Amino acid sequence: MSTLEMVNPATGEALGQLAEATPAEVGQAMIDAREAFAQWREVPLRERLGYMKRLREIIVDQASELAKKISQDTGKVQLESLMSDIYPTVGLIRYYEKKAPSILKRKRVPMTIALFGRFSHVEYRPMGVIAVISPWNYPFQLSLAPVVSALIAGNTVILKPSEVSPFTGQVIGELLEQAGFPKGVVQVLHGGKDVGKQLVEARPDKIFFTGSSATGKKIMAAAAEHLIPVELELGGKDPMIVFADADLDRAVNGALWGGFTNAGQTCMAVERVYVEDAIFEKFVQQLVVKAKALRVGRGEGRDVGSMTYPHQLKIVEEHLKDAVDKGARILCGGRRLNEETLHFEPTVLVDVDHSMRIMREETFGPVIPVMRFSLESEAVQLANDSPYGLNGSVWSKDLHKARRVASRIESGNICINDVMIGIAHPALPYGGNKESGMGRYHGPEGLKSFSHTVSVVTSPGRKKREINWFPYSRDQYTAISELLKDLYGKSFRPSLKGLIKVGTEFFRSK
Ligand code: NAD
Repeated sequence: MSTLEMVNPATGEALGQLAEATPAEVGQAMIDAREAFAQWREVPLRERLGYMKRLREIIVDQASELAKKISQDTGKVQLESLMSDIYPTVGLIRYYEKKAPSILKRKRVPMTIALFGRFSHVEYRPMGVIAVISPWNYPFQLSLAPVVSALIAGNTVILKPSEVSPFTGQVIGELLEQAGFPKGVVQVLHGGKDVGKQLVEARPDKIFFTGSSATGKKIMAAAAEHLIPVELELGGKDPMIVFADADLDRAVNGALWGGFTNAGQTCMAVERVYVEDAIFEKFVQQLVVKAKALRVGRGEGRDVGSMTYPHQLKIVEEHLKDAVDKGARILCGGRRLNEETLHFEPTVLVDVDHSMRIMREETFGPVIPVMRFSLESEAVQLANDSPYGLNGSVWSKDLHKARRVASRIESGNICINDVMIGIAHPALPYGGNKESGMGRYHGPEGLKSFSHTVSVVTSPGRKKREINWFPYSRDQYTAISELLKDLYGKSFRPSLKGLIKVGTEFFRSK
């Protein structure tokens, strides 16, 4: 049996070991989840929401202790664990406690004239067992948000947290245990990508994956073998467009937080900044001054924590080297704080272009490359010149212009004079376009995406046959032809003649 080593990346301190799930345990988890689904789907929504309330209260009661543990696991500043991992999770739970009954209730759909006499509605049914596979950068939020959404919609869940942040995975397992879900309703399997693969091969009814685009493609290919639906929340290379008429202080502060929060390891981080010529020098100068003033390290009173994953730090160094080799200039940062931990200095660079990896691939570290533009159309073209489409931002005091530009950015989310913040609103759907993924969660979409949407038509059942059924006749043909013209032809108005024809056929079929 293999084990995962749990280590604090900000100190190197060992946090313990965790056994990886064996193939037999993955198989058993699927059997248990399937058995539990039969009962869980019958539990009334109000009762399912009762479990959510309990989970939310447990999380809030233990918030400080949890924030400390998430920070030990990831190296992030404790405020960020509280603000960006715990807060949005409980916010989403509370939102669904209030809104799930109206989101998931059956919806009456008015009948069309041609189908007169019947009734129709749409209902949302649970899908079965959902596999949630999550990453390490916001290991709490990005595990629990899909888990609770799937459970509320009546599914059972198997979660596989990231092997890079196993301590948080263990903590989540303990919290779910405390919330007292019935056996098999929600299970946590620890382990690396092999456990993830086994979980996919165990044929869940849906896979909700958050992670890199490269892994997302593999998961989608594996899921295609069995036509398992997938939802993919993948990487990003988010552009920030700053026009000359933007509030300069706000834009600089926005870039600073958007690029360096969580040490830049955010799927929606500001990864590319495009600044209009007229304010380029001023913007860069202020950004560098403020980046140098950020306090990097661990413990109280720090702004930027350590990176989490040694492999990611290597990618950051590779991207910087590639950029410098091709002519970029690093104005601040550009190196590790020390050799013992994974702290990396906030870095700003200029003289970048789209031939460089740093402008095309996800860097996922505390690095902000800044490039200039002259025309609005050029800014849009540069922003969209990317395989990714997760988030982006446009900065201008002219809101009409900002909205116009924002509407042309190819992404699933967009902010105006703000960064990343959409994900903090539980009612707003969240997800990406292009290689940033597919599907949406949060908001009403976040429950419907874990449901089968089923259309139901009910006839009172008192007629022997319907107008469209056998045997066919000339009169049927004429009636349908009249209806076609009246409803969908130039006039769009049912004529008396047409209605009489259809009415006659309708009563004839009784
Ligand atoms: P990753 O793709 O390396 O791993 C993610 C998860 O997938 C882990 O749990 C891993 O064990 C598992 N996994 C790996 N290979 C697998 C396979 N073949 N089959 C099944 N499971 C497999 O990603 P990561 O490094 O943990 O996370 C960082 C990435 O996640 C970044 O690209 C980031 O942008 C992205 N991300 C996206 C969002 C979003 O909402 N769009 C949010 C956070 C992170």
